[in-house]
Amino acid sequence: MTSSLPARASRLRGARALFTGREGGVSVAEHAGLNLARHVGDDEDAVRRNRELLEQELAVPVVFVDQVHSADVHVLPAEGPVPVVTADALVTDRDDVALAIMVADCLPVLLSDPVSGTIGAAHAGRAGLLGGVLERTVEAMGELGARPEELTASIGPAICGACYEVPEQMRAEAARQLPATQASTSWGTPSLDLRAGAVEILVAAGIALSAIDAEHPCTLEDERFYSHRRQARTGRFAGVVRRG
Ligand SMILES: [Zn+2]
Repeated sequence: MTSSLPARASRLRGARALFTGREGGVSVAEHAGLNLARHVGDDEDAVRRNRELLEQELAVPVVFVDQVHSADVHVLPAEGPVPVVTADALVTDRDDVALAIMVADCLPVLLSDPVSGTIGAAHAGRAGLLGGVLERTVEAMGELGARPEELTASIGPAICGACYEVPEQMRAEAARQLPATQASTSWGTPSLDLRAGAVEILVAAGIALSAIDAEHPCTLEDERFYSHRRQARTGRFAGVVRRG
């Protein structure tokens, strides 16, 4: 049962993965479209309706977290209701829920191991990426039986290295830990390529480069997505994954 919610599909083995955009929701003005976040000043009823549309699309309840740019991973209870917790990644082997991570420039990273039937979703901005959120997500999936060599990953729409300007010192600090993040903007100033950094981390964790789908648009350049850099007051789209 699929509805017609506009979303980008991604190739993940053993799971259905998608990235929503602005299209298809009921929010208006600066949140216009499918804003899925409650904390950004949007109308509560509009957000509730948008989340219902997403659940219809996935055909199961969608689990969100209160994201705080940490490296904390929440492993869902094996069954029963799922409380809303503060964390920046979700992991489960359940097939009766979908996992969602909300973003507007940060990386939404979705993972699946088709052999153990384990899925994960992580919110990786600069702080989370450097703090180890992706390594910890892969680790937590491992505790449920996932093996890195079986994992497939998708790194969704996010601000790109040619757009994500940062101070020189911030670039230097990030590059010491993750050399692949070092980049320059299209106008020649220091920047970070978070997507390249995420690929570097996932490959170091044992995931095959060929199993990583990293080809997704830049949120700052592509107005089909919310971008916090483009507009401080805006909505959040999501990366969502479910087994099957
Ligand atoms: Zn860009």
